[in-house]
Amino acid sequence: MASESFFTDDNIEVMFDAETLQARIVELGAAIARDYQDDADDLVLIGILKGCFVFLADLVRAVDLPLAVDFIGLSSYGDSTESSGVVRLTTDVSKSIEGRHVLVVEDIVDTGLTMNYLLENLRTRGPKSVKLCSLLEKPDKNTSGIKIDYLGFSIPDKFVIGYGLDYAERYRNLPYVGVLKSTDG
Ligand code: 5GP
Repeated sequence: MASESFFTDDNIEVMFDAETLQARIVELGAAIARDYQDDADDLVLIGILKGCFVFLADLVRAVDLPLAVDFIGLSSYGDSTESSGVVRLTTDVSKSIEGRHVLVVEDIVDTGLTMNYLLENLRTRGPKSVKLCSLLEKPDKNTSGIKIDYLGFSIPDKFVIGYGLDYAERYRNLPYVGVLKSTDG
């Protein structure tokens, strides 16, 4: 490895550091706990793989309710920073969501194409409710008009990495959200 630290790289500009992320997640968790306190027994948080895994791990520990966790695998991007426009369900939930309150947990809403597809799909399965929590949103790109019920941060139209988000499967383990200054090398 060229630099001494993978986490501290001159080629990465920090957008949200670990402390900033945690502070916001504590707020989101409190809001979710308040809104679902009477429905906690039927509440399932569904994380969208793979990008959600770090955010979801922190978020569930900030929601003081007896919730359930499940996962869905979706693929909308190849190993590039451009949307392919194609959404594919690669893994489905392990338990039926019929009669349950579903809170989808996503890393980032960009064009909203992925969420549009998924929310429509989930609504056909007879849940009591379906809501969306996303750590990040690029409002300039969200042409699908997807409503985000719990949003961490709005960001400019830049390709971000870290805290679960990858570039060609790398950088998911960065403890912060950052922007790659250059994708060469
Ligand atoms: P959408 O369908 O909303 O355009 O794209 C959503 C998915 O694209 C996200 O779940 C994420 O996997 C990927 N994506 C969109 N923008 C970014 C970005 O800035 N960085 C990374 N790493 N992935 C992104």
